[in-house]
Amino acid sequence: MTGSLTVIGLGPGDPRWLTPAASAALDAATDLVGYGPYVGRVPARDGLVRHASDNRVELDRARHALDLAAAGRAVAVVSGGDPGVFAMAAAVFEALEDARPEWAAIDIRVEPGITAVLAAAAALGAPLGGDFAVMSLSDNLKPWDVVTRRLEAALAADFVVALYNPISKARPWQLGEALKLAGRHRAADAPVAFARAIGRPDEAVRVLPLGEAEQAASTADMATLVLIGASATRTVGGADGRRFLYTPRSVGRLP
Ligand code: SAH
Repeated sequence: MTGSLTVIGLGPGDPRWLTPAASAALDAATDLVGYGPYVGRVPARDGLVRHASDNRVELDRARHALDLAAAGRAVAVVSGGDPGVFAMAAAVFEALEDARPEWAAIDIRVEPGITAVLAAAAALGAPLGGDFAVMSLSDNLKPWDVVTRRLEAALAADFVVALYNPISKARPWQLGEALKLAGRHRAADAPVAFARAIGRPDEAVRVLPLGEAEQAASTADMATLVLIGASATRTVGGADGRRFLYTPRSVGRLP
Protein backbone atom coordinates (compact mmCIF):
# COMPACT_ATOMS: atom_id res chain seq x y z
CA MET A 1 0.00 0.00 0.00
CA THR A 2 1.30 3.45 -0.87
CA GLY A 3 1.83 5.82 2.04
CA SER A 4 1.91 9.56 2.44
CA LEU A 5 4.43 12.35 2.52
CA THR A 6 3.71 15.58 4.38
CA VAL A 7 6.22 18.41 4.27
CA ILE A 8 5.88 20.20 7.58
CA GLY A 9 6.97 23.65 8.71
CA LEU A 10 8.13 23.68 12.34
CA GLY A 11 8.17 27.48 12.68
CA PRO A 12 11.16 29.54 13.80
CA GLY A 13 11.79 27.76 17.09
CA ASP A 14 9.20 28.45 19.78
CA PRO A 15 7.08 25.27 20.01
CA ARG A 16 3.99 27.46 20.54
CA TRP A 17 4.53 28.70 16.99
CA LEU A 18 3.91 25.24 15.55
CA THR A 19 0.42 25.23 14.01
CA PRO A 20 -2.13 22.73 15.32
CA ALA A 21 -2.34 21.28 11.80
CA ALA A 22 1.44 20.78 11.65
CA SER A 23 1.35 19.23 15.10
CA ALA A 24 -1.40 16.79 14.05
CA ALA A 25 0.60 15.86 10.93
CA LEU A 26 3.65 15.13 13.12
CA ASP A 27 1.52 12.96 15.39
CA ALA A 28 0.32 10.95 12.39
CA ALA A 29 3.84 10.26 11.06
CA THR A 30 5.69 6.96 11.26
CA ASP A 31 8.92 8.39 9.85
CA LEU A 32 10.65 11.72 10.29
CA VAL A 33 13.02 12.95 7.58
CA GLY A 34 15.05 16.17 7.64
CA TYR A 35 18.17 18.08 8.53
CA GLY A 36 19.40 16.90 11.95
CA PRO A 37 18.61 19.99 14.06
CA TYR A 38 15.03 20.13 12.73
CA VAL A 39 14.43 16.41 13.30
CA GLY A 40 15.86 16.99 16.79
CA ARG A 41 13.15 19.53 17.53
CA VAL A 42 10.41 16.90 17.27
CA PRO A 43 9.96 15.01 20.55
CA ALA A 44 10.70 11.29 20.39
CA ARG A 45 7.84 8.82 20.78
CA ASP A 46 7.28 5.11 20.30
CA GLY A 47 6.79 4.14 16.68
CA LEU A 48 8.45 7.22 15.23
CA VAL A 49 11.54 6.41 13.16
CA ARG A 50 13.99 9.30 12.72
CA HIS A 51 16.11 9.81 9.59
CA ALA A 52 18.32 12.83 10.26
CA SER A 53 20.70 13.87 7.52
CA ASP A 54 23.19 16.49 6.49
CA ASN A 55 21.93 19.90 5.29
CA ARG A 56 23.51 19.74 1.83
CA VAL A 57 21.73 16.79 0.31
CA GLU A 58 18.18 18.03 -0.01
CA LEU A 59 17.33 16.18 -3.22
CA ASP A 60 18.67 12.85 -1.93
CA ARG A 61 16.72 13.37 1.27
CA ALA A 62 13.56 14.10 -0.75
CA ARG A 63 14.05 10.91 -2.83
CA HIS A 64 14.59 8.90 0.34
CA ALA A 65 11.36 10.33 1.78
CA LEU A 66 9.45 9.47 -1.42
CA ASP A 67 10.83 5.90 -1.32
CA LEU A 68 9.71 5.48 2.29
CA ALA A 69 6.23 6.77 1.41
CA ALA A 70 6.07 4.46 -1.63
CA ALA A 71 6.80 1.57 0.76
CA GLY A 72 3.69 2.47 2.75
CA ARG A 73 5.10 4.69 5.50
CA ALA A 74 3.51 7.96 6.71
CA VAL A 75 6.48 10.24 6.19
CA ALA A 76 6.90 13.71 7.69
CA VAL A 77 9.61 15.79 6.04
CA VAL A 78 10.42 18.65 8.41
CA SER A 79 11.86 22.13 7.80
CA GLY A 80 12.36 25.10 10.10
CA GLY A 81 10.01 28.03 9.52
CA ASP A 82 7.85 27.39 6.48
CA PRO A 83 8.79 24.35 4.38
CA GLY A 84 8.12 26.21 1.13
CA VAL A 85 10.53 29.08 1.87
CA PHE A 86 14.11 28.13 0.91
CA ALA A 87 13.42 24.64 2.24
CA MET A 88 12.36 21.05 1.63
CA ALA A 89 8.99 21.40 -0.11
CA ALA A 90 10.54 22.55 -3.39
CA ALA A 91 13.12 19.73 -3.16
CA VAL A 92 10.33 17.16 -2.85
CA PHE A 93 8.61 18.44 -5.99
CA GLU A 94 11.91 18.66 -7.84
CA ALA A 95 12.63 15.03 -6.93
CA LEU A 96 9.12 14.12 -8.09
CA GLU A 97 10.07 15.27 -11.59
CA ASP A 98 11.90 11.93 -11.94
CA ALA A 99 8.35 10.55 -12.30
CA ARG A 100 9.16 7.12 -10.86
CA PRO A 101 6.04 4.94 -11.20
CA GLU A 102 6.24 3.78 -7.55
CA TRP A 103 5.87 7.42 -6.43
CA ALA A 104 2.76 8.15 -8.52
CA ALA A 105 0.14 7.29 -5.87
CA ILE A 106 1.79 8.97 -2.86
CA ASP A 107 -0.50 11.37 -1.02
CA ILE A 108 1.69 14.52 -0.84
CA ARG A 109 0.77 17.53 1.30
CA VAL A 110 2.47 20.67 2.58
CA GLU A 111 1.75 22.05 6.07
CA PRO A 112 2.77 25.72 6.35
CA GLY A 113 4.76 27.23 9.20
CA ILE A 114 5.65 30.71 10.38
CA THR A 115 8.58 31.75 8.23
CA ALA A 116 11.55 33.61 9.74
CA VAL A 117 10.74 36.96 8.18
CA LEU A 118 7.28 37.03 9.79
CA ALA A 119 8.61 36.08 13.21
CA ALA A 120 11.40 38.67 12.89
CA ALA A 121 8.93 41.35 11.77
CA ALA A 122 6.72 40.70 14.80
CA ALA A 123 9.73 40.96 17.13
CA LEU A 124 10.71 44.29 15.53
CA GLY A 125 7.28 45.91 15.21
CA ALA A 126 5.75 46.06 11.72
CA PRO A 127 8.53 46.56 9.16
CA LEU A 128 6.55 44.66 6.49
CA GLY A 129 3.62 47.09 6.55
CA GLY A 130 4.45 48.16 2.98
CA ASP A 131 5.72 46.12 0.03
CA PHE A 132 8.64 43.83 0.70
CA ALA A 133 10.94 41.39 -1.06
CA VAL A 134 12.46 38.23 0.36
CA MET A 135 15.75 36.79 -0.86
CA SER A 136 18.23 34.13 0.10
CA LEU A 137 21.69 35.68 0.04
CA SER A 138 23.28 32.26 -0.41
CA ASP A 139 25.20 31.70 -3.62
CA ASN A 140 25.35 27.94 -3.07
CA LEU A 141 22.37 27.35 -5.37
CA LYS A 142 22.57 30.40 -7.66
CA PRO A 143 25.45 32.52 -9.03
CA TRP A 144 26.43 35.62 -7.05
CA ASP A 145 25.65 37.93 -9.99
CA VAL A 146 22.03 36.72 -9.90
CA VAL A 147 21.92 37.54 -6.17
CA THR A 148 23.26 41.07 -6.72
CA ARG A 149 21.02 41.72 -9.73
CA ARG A 150 17.89 40.77 -7.78
CA LEU A 151 19.01 42.66 -4.69
CA GLU A 152 19.72 45.83 -6.71
CA ALA A 153 16.32 45.61 -8.41
CA ALA A 154 14.52 45.21 -5.07
CA LEU A 155 16.47 48.07 -3.50
CA ALA A 156 15.93 50.32 -6.52
CA ALA A 157 12.18 49.62 -6.36
CA ASP A 158 12.25 50.69 -2.68
CA PHE A 159 11.07 47.39 -1.25
CA VAL A 160 11.90 46.46 2.30
CA VAL A 161 14.37 43.62 1.64
CA ALA A 162 14.66 40.58 3.91
CA LEU A 163 17.83 38.51 3.52
CA TYR A 164 17.71 34.86 4.54
CA ASN A 165 21.00 32.91 4.75
CA PRO A 166 22.96 36.16 5.09
CA ILE A 167 26.30 34.65 6.08
CA SER A 168 28.09 31.39 6.89
CA LYS A 169 31.65 30.19 7.43
CA ALA A 170 31.89 29.34 3.74
CA ARG A 171 30.28 32.67 2.70
CA PRO A 172 31.89 35.31 4.94
CA TRP A 173 31.90 38.40 2.68
CA GLN A 174 28.54 38.35 0.85
CA LEU A 175 26.54 40.20 3.52
CA GLY A 176 29.07 43.06 3.61
CA GLU A 177 28.81 43.34 -0.18
CA ALA A 178 25.02 43.32 -0.01
CA LEU A 179 25.00 46.13 2.57
CA LYS A 180 27.48 48.09 0.46
CA LEU A 181 25.05 47.76 -2.46
CA ALA A 182 22.25 48.95 -0.21
CA GLY A 183 24.26 52.11 0.47
CA ARG A 184 23.83 53.07 -3.19
CA HIS A 185 20.05 53.05 -2.85
CA ARG A 186 19.36 54.09 0.75
CA ALA A 187 20.44 56.92 3.05
CA ALA A 188 23.16 56.19 5.62
CA ASP A 189 20.56 56.41 8.41
CA ALA A 190 18.18 53.89 6.81
CA PRO A 191 17.41 51.20 9.40
CA VAL A 192 18.90 47.71 9.06
CA ALA A 193 17.70 45.02 11.46
CA PHE A 194 19.65 41.94 12.56
CA ALA A 195 17.07 39.50 13.96
CA ARG A 196 18.77 36.46 15.43
CA ALA A 197 17.30 33.14 16.63
CA ILE A 198 13.79 34.57 16.90
CA GLY A 199 11.55 32.40 19.08
CA ARG A 200 14.52 30.61 20.67
CA PRO A 201 16.09 31.21 24.10
CA ASP A 202 19.05 33.07 22.56
CA GLU A 203 16.86 35.48 20.56
CA ALA A 204 18.53 38.85 19.89
CA VAL A 205 17.33 41.81 17.86
CA ARG A 206 19.34 44.87 16.81
CA VAL A 207 18.51 47.83 14.58
CA LEU A 208 21.42 49.85 13.20
CA PRO A 209 21.71 52.68 10.69
CA LEU A 210 22.88 51.37 7.33
CA GLY A 211 26.09 53.37 7.71
CA GLU A 212 27.06 51.20 10.70
CA ALA A 213 25.53 47.93 9.53
CA GLU A 214 28.33 47.01 7.14
CA GLN A 215 30.83 47.05 10.03
CA ALA A 216 28.47 44.84 12.03
CA ALA A 217 27.97 42.31 9.22
CA SER A 218 30.42 39.86 10.78
CA THR A 219 28.25 39.68 13.92
CA ALA A 220 25.48 38.01 11.89
CA ASP A 221 25.39 34.23 11.62
CA MET A 222 23.34 31.42 10.06
CA ALA A 223 20.52 32.00 12.56
CA THR A 224 20.19 35.69 11.64
CA LEU A 225 17.69 37.31 9.33
CA VAL A 226 18.77 40.71 8.01
CA LEU A 227 16.15 43.25 7.05
CA ILE A 228 16.95 46.41 5.09
CA GLY A 229 14.32 49.12 5.46
CA ALA A 230 12.62 50.92 2.57
CA SER A 231 12.96 54.71 2.42
CA ALA A 232 9.81 55.12 4.58
CA THR A 233 10.78 52.52 7.22
CA ARG A 234 11.35 54.20 10.56
CA THR A 235 11.15 53.73 14.32
CA VAL A 236 8.60 54.96 16.85
CA GLY A 237 8.95 54.98 20.64
CA GLY A 238 6.98 52.75 23.00
CA ALA A 239 6.96 52.02 26.74
CA ASP A 240 10.23 51.70 28.68
CA GLY A 241 12.30 53.33 25.97
CA ARG A 242 11.52 50.55 23.52
CA ARG A 243 11.59 51.44 19.83
CA PHE A 244 9.44 49.71 17.24
CA LEU A 245 10.52 49.45 13.62
CA TYR A 246 7.69 49.91 11.14
CA THR A 247 6.87 50.79 7.55
CA PRO A 248 3.75 52.91 6.98
CA ARG A 249 0.98 51.33 4.91
CA SER A 250 0.71 54.27 2.54
CA VAL A 251 3.23 55.59 0.04
CA GLY A 252 3.06 59.19 -1.17
CA ARG A 253 -0.21 61.05 -1.28
CA LEU A 254 -3.45 59.05 -1.33
CA PRO A 255 -6.32 60.23 -3.59
N1 SAH B 1 12.39 27.58 5.81
C1 SAH B 1 12.97 28.58 6.70
C2 SAH B 1 14.16 29.28 6.07
C3 SAH B 1 15.34 28.38 5.76
S1 SAH B 1 16.73 29.29 5.22
C4 SAH B 1 11.89 29.61 7.08
O1 SAH B 1 10.82 29.62 6.47
O2 SAH B 1 12.13 30.40 8.01
C5 SAH B 1 17.60 29.54 6.77
C6 SAH B 1 17.64 31.00 7.13
O3 SAH B 1 16.39 31.40 7.69
C7 SAH B 1 18.66 31.38 8.19
O4 SAH B 1 19.95 31.57 7.64
C8 SAH B 1 18.08 32.69 8.71
O5 SAH B 1 18.35 33.75 7.82
C9 SAH B 1 16.59 32.41 8.65
N2 SAH B 1 16.05 31.93 9.94
C10 SAH B 1 15.54 30.72 10.20
N3 SAH B 1 15.09 30.64 11.47
C11 SAH B 1 15.31 31.86 12.03
C12 SAH B 1 15.05 32.43 13.32
N4 SAH B 1 14.48 31.70 14.30
N5 SAH B 1 15.41 33.72 13.53
C13 SAH B 1 15.98 34.46 12.55
N6 SAH B 1 16.24 33.97 11.31
C14 SAH B 1 15.92 32.69 11.06
